[in-house]
Amino acid sequence: MHDTDAQGNEFFKCDYCLRPWSEDRPMVEGHRGSLVCSSCLTVAYAEVVNAGVSTAPPAGATCAMCLEARKDPHWQSPTRPEAFICLRCIKQSARVLEKDAESGWQRPGRGSDSP
Ligand SMILES: [Zn+2]
Ligand SMILES: [Zn+2]
Repeated sequence: MHDTDAQGNEFFKCDYCLRPWSEDRPMVEGHRGSLVCSSCLTVAYAEVVNAGVSTAPPAGATCAMCLEARKDPHWQSPTRPEAFICLRCIKQSARVLEKDAESGWQRPGRGSDSP
């Protein structure tokens, strides 16, 4: 999200943990300025994609990244319970971060059988 009361890096805050943007915390932008940081994406990816954990958003709630009410599995932010990210946005954001060489981000492995 964009915190209009803040200056500089503090202006950009992850919608899921509310931490500001920094050099070691790259972020992916969704619709209407929503943001997910690399650490939240790591947790979301590990839980939803690797472990198959899914939290169904309440009726009317949408994914903060695409603003769609999708039938996909969702990850719920522990910091901001009203913030969800859908499976599609987790995968899409993972691809964006991985392509960004400067981020150095890698999707979390599945354990011992990952390359
Ligand atoms: Zn975050
Ligand atoms: Zn989404």
